[in-house]
Amino acid sequence: MSSGGLSLVRRAVEAVRRTPLWRKRLVVVTVGVGTLTYACQDNQVLQINDGTGKKKVVIIGTGWAGASFLRNIDTSLYDVHVVSPRNYFTFTPLLPSVTCGTVEARSIVEPIRNMVRKRGGAFRFWEAECYKIDPNNKKIHCRSDNGTNIDGNGEFVVDYDYLIVAVGARPNTFNTPGVVENCHFLKEVEDAQKIRKSVMKCFEKASLPNLTEEEKKKNLHFVIIGGGPTGVEFAAELHDFFNEDLAKLYPDVKKYVNISVIEAGDHILTMFDKRITQFAEDKFKRDGIDLKTNFKVVKVSDKAITMTNAATGEIAVPYGMAVWSTGIGTRPIIMDFMKQVGQANRRVLATDEWLRVHGCDDVYALGDCATITQRKVMKIKNVLGDIYGRYPQVELYLKTNQMKDFHDLLKDSDGNIIKESKELDIEEFKKALARVDSQVKILPATAQVASQQGAYLANCFNRMKYCEENPEGPLRIRGTGHHRFKPFRYRHFGQFAPLGGEQTAAQLPGDWIHVGHSTQWLWYSVYASKQFSWRTRMLVVSDWARRFIFGRDSSSL
Ligand code: FAD
Ligand code: MG
Repeated sequence: MSSGGLSLVRRAVEAVRRTPLWRKRLVVVTVGVGTLTYACQDNQVLQINDGTGKKKVVIIGTGWAGASFLRNIDTSLYDVHVVSPRNYFTFTPLLPSVTCGTVEARSIVEPIRNMVRKRGGAFRFWEAECYKIDPNNKKIHCRSDNGTNIDGNGEFVVDYDYLIVAVGARPNTFNTPGVVENCHFLKEVEDAQKIRKSVMKCFEKASLPNLTEEEKKKNLHFVIIGGGPTGVEFAAELHDFFNEDLAKLYPDVKKYVNISVIEAGDHILTMFDKRITQFAEDKFKRDGIDLKTNFKVVKVSDKAITMTNAATGEIAVPYGMAVWSTGIGTRPIIMDFMKQVGQANRRVLATDEWLRVHGCDDVYALGDCATITQRKVMKIKNVLGDIYGRYPQVELYLKTNQMKDFHDLLKDSDGNIIKESKELDIEEFKKALARVDSQVKILPATAQVASQQGAYLANCFNRMKYCEENPEGPLRIRGTGHHRFKPFRYRHFGQFAPLGGEQTAAQLPGDWIHVGHSTQWLWYSVYASKQFSWRTRMLVVSDWARRFIFGRDSSSL
């Protein structure tokens, strides 16, 4: 370009910079196939609109639910935008392994930008936190730590046609004093990294000269509060780390090490079969892990953990490091949203079986931040109560194909489904309703549920047009015709509880229970196969191999 051309460009840029009015003008930037329109308002909040004409789907969160939706959505049908404060997906089941360096942090994360590249740039990602959902105006308010907008406060607004809320949950402290200030959580990659550093600091501190025995004991007392799968797995990892690596590296202080698991209930791992619970408790006893069941932590200070028990009363135990792992709570953004949509009196955001938020159009919620309130079948009885009241025997023609109990009612003596109308006894019918109700369970807050929900919802979105014309769901109870889609159905593939010493407990469908070394190999293969990409799969497997050959790294990095 000639120097005259260059100075022309420079003058134009200068002119734009000097003109305050430019902010109020429309700047159209052509990017690839689509057109991005940035319309800046007087309040300096950026509104981002896409000019492709496709319906705009905005996803908040890049965890199990959000990433699974993203992987499955057909981006040729929708204009997809993603907002999350983390520009990566985390394979959370391996987080406990990161706390002791069995696998490295970067081996279990997949950058979202890699996904964008793999999908040919078909969706946009904004690294920011959504701090408010405005369902009335179909907008979300976001804030970036990076301070990227004109004023540098990093705030912007994104409008949507459909909103997918997948922000997950936060650790639940039950408002116990001192927990936030003094305990570690194990929810994010940063938490696992902090724990790893802290474990090494405790060992180094205990090895310093001039420490009394009491001080050494205190520094090497590791306490895990919560006997759920995460707490138990971390305790087992820590025990292995100490047993296999640190005991050799810190021979002078190894006798002072103590790992305690504190659980408010009678047993640990209560969501598993009793045989697994028993095996885990016996194994912990053999390993010298101090299991304190029926103890409730009431306060944590920088020096001691105070807990109560019916037999001992209140006791305070000095500790070196504590990890709080007692379950999950609702994020503030979701609590605020629940107030707006008339769910203020609920603990968790409620959706229907199609993952649509109750009381809110075009907003879907999935994963740990929401729960499906399955319509209790007995309530159908209330809707139709009049009819049943008037007629002791009701002629019913049920087209449902989901309720086995009803099908049993509609079978003839040879077990064939009766296609034509049949007279049913009302009492028999009520019993069938009650049986179906008793089978309705709240889904657990797991990666399995979240990822299945993400895939289900993306599939519904992909077939939205087809299913408008060819509805495949059940008959509507209120209103006419059929629902567009079949409701979400969870398929449970089983669960694992790694217990350390290369032993894992597995509870698989069909009540198949197994504990031992062979299950550990099953665990390795399942978790390797479930990795997000071949890249992370290679990294994780090579981390496991490295650990087998060289042991874990003890640097306090
Ligand atoms: P998350 O995966 O937590 O994702 C939430 C996303 O939302 C994140 O990207 C986050 O950055 C983003 N976000 C948060 N706030 C905002 C905001 N304000 N605005 C925008 N974005 C936001 N489950 C299993 O099935 N098997 C296991 O073995 C297992 N092990 C686990 C071990 C550990 C240590 C932990 C912590 C969990 C484990 N789980 C396991 C549970 C599983 O991780 C969760 O159920 C799952 O992550 C839920 O997925 P989600 O997408 O709802 O939330
Ligand atoms: Mg998610």
